[in-house]
Amino acid sequence: MLGNNHPIRLQTMTTTDTMDTIGTVEQTIRCIEAGAELVRITAPSKKEAENLRNIKEELKRRGYNTPLIADIHFTPNAAEIAARIIEKVRVNPGNYVDKKKFEFIDYTDSEYVEEIDRIRDRFTPLVRICRQYGTAMRIGTNHGSLSDRIMSRYGDTPMGMVESAMEFLRIARAESYHNIILSMKSSNPQVMVQAYRMLIQQMMQEFNECYPLHLGVTEAGDGEDGRVKSAAGIGTLLEDGIGDTIRVSLTEDPEFEIPVCLDLVKRYSAPVSLRGELSATPAALFIPPLEGRGATYDPFVYKRRTSFAVDNMGDKQVPVVMADLSKIENITAKDLESIGYSYNEITDKWSISDSAADYVFTGNQILPFALPGTLKMVVYPSAWEQVVTEAVQAGTAGEPTYFPIFSDSGYATSEIKSPHLNFVMFDCFSDDTIVNDFTYLDAVANDKTVVICLSSTNKHAMPAIRRMFMEMQQRDIESPVVIICDSYWQTADEHLIHYATECGALLLDGFGDGICLGMTSHAYKNSSVTNASGRNYLNNATVEQFINSTAFSILQATRTRISKTEYISCPSCGRTLFELQETTAKIRAVTNHLKGVKIAIMGCIVNGPGEMADADFGYVGSGVGKITLYRGKEVVKRNVNSDIAVSELILLLKESDAWVEPVV
Ligand code: SF4
Repeated sequence: MLGNNHPIRLQTMTTTDTMDTIGTVEQTIRCIEAGAELVRITAPSKKEAENLRNIKEELKRRGYNTPLIADIHFTPNAAEIAARIIEKVRVNPGNYVDKKKFEFIDYTDSEYVEEIDRIRDRFTPLVRICRQYGTAMRIGTNHGSLSDRIMSRYGDTPMGMVESAMEFLRIARAESYHNIILSMKSSNPQVMVQAYRMLIQQMMQEFNECYPLHLGVTEAGDGEDGRVKSAAGIGTLLEDGIGDTIRVSLTEDPEFEIPVCLDLVKRYSAPVSLRGELSATPAALFIPPLEGRGATYDPFVYKRRTSFAVDNMGDKQVPVVMADLSKIENITAKDLESIGYSYNEITDKWSISDSAADYVFTGNQILPFALPGTLKMVVYPSAWEQVVTEAVQAGTAGEPTYFPIFSDSGYATSEIKSPHLNFVMFDCFSDDTIVNDFTYLDAVANDKTVVICLSSTNKHAMPAIRRMFMEMQQRDIESPVVIICDSYWQTADEHLIHYATECGALLLDGFGDGICLGMTSHAYKNSSVTNASGRNYLNNATVEQFINSTAFSILQATRTRISKTEYISCPSCGRTLFELQETTAKIRAVTNHLKGVKIAIMGCIVNGPGEMADADFGYVGSGVGKITLYRGKEVVKRNVNSDIAVSELILLLKESDAWVEPVV
């Protein structure tokens, strides 16, 4: 049971060869035991589709009746076989009928209608089989594999993705077949979120009803980056009540995807009593509706909120990262290593990494050592006053490095403020009593020394903060804003999902000129540095390092600030032609210093080139032991032996001026 008010179902996809019945059965069982409620298996041709029967029977014999899904690309005949055997088929409207040639074709309206008729002829038999056998279907659009026809008319856009699915949906509805789920996946969470929102709008406009939705970010990669990207995309939609089943695509064994799915979903099913410290102080849930001029942002188009600059925040500047070191007692120079600053005593110099925090909040601590030149400190007003007084007495008051952070009422009543930069905190809709009182907000509005910090302890913190952004837009307040997000969870995965969902959702809508991630005191003390599958993200480092790296990963995933190489790697499946996890790790090891370069690592030539979306370079399996290398969509080296393919990729990066030597 899926859709409507049923729980959000968790699913994954096997990576084994579908002809390996026992291997596929055993991997499916591992996924089911981990919590998968549906399992997808690739059926690249008729023989694999036929073998789904053996897999299903063997699973049944071992006591497992979990619904299976056949994954179909390019092969209607395989789909028509699978639909008679298992519970669901997934078709990709970009390649079910069309072959991808990356050609631009200028169709007249009548030629376009003829194309739709051609699709109807080829797709209707599958619809009829599904209707006859009670088989469900996912119409699964991928941003990277839109047909040449859709690309020619709509371009590489969310609207193109929506239309691609709608063409198939209209045909199915005309056959009175409604057992349908839809998806709009992309490796870019921004595109994916907009496409799902547009699809809902389009279905409501045309049919006045919505079909269930399967959510996912494709080719998200592995480890922390894969989880953050998935959570930013999937979590943003779940926060708004969108989504009936989810799949987190990681370049890892499929059973490791399920704990991430569970973490994403339990945020909406866990009773308040499981939500850490919040249970002690249940927050108000009420978020007042918008009145007056209505929503002033467009959820279908990314546009960064207009703000003016205060110091290095706001306007067109990339969002800043504020690290919270306030829970460390007696902060030392060594502690700054966690946030990207390493001090060399011999040279008396700081080295600064690409993911070094811009600001550090230390509470009341004034650091007893000279700071790296680019780092700025944020402290409570009494500590700031002390710094200012001491500097005046010592005659050293120059360029300030310490700035105060006030409460909203504190700023209004304080007689001493920084003439340069003041941070002012606002709690968004966490308490019924202040819901309609914006006196303090109006008091700081458009003050050219103020950066507003928004946080919320409301159980629904993201919508509460988003509502405050809208309030500010209605009041024409263009002050820059830092989003403060505290986590009350425990494991690394839970924290990652929390931060990526809450901040990712706001950044994807263009809100936020900075982020500051932290933990409640309870979570900080009890935090486990391992995730649910026992993997340690922290590499024996500190909670602060974990949080800092997560902050930069969120900015990278939402494409608001690029600080590292981006990997678009497929999760692998029965079509994969090489050891994808090992190869991804190898490529990552030699290219992870190439800030801003997007490298795709794709398991097969059938789907890889299309699905690698906007990657700058592609490493694609094209035969057993053979790799084809791409620059953008252009094939540069065909069928290179896999044992030299990584070196050839480096050569290609060098030839394309995308390579820099790593700093030792
Ligand atoms: S790109 Fe990867 S996941 Fe997609 S079909 Fe090919 S091997 Fe399978």
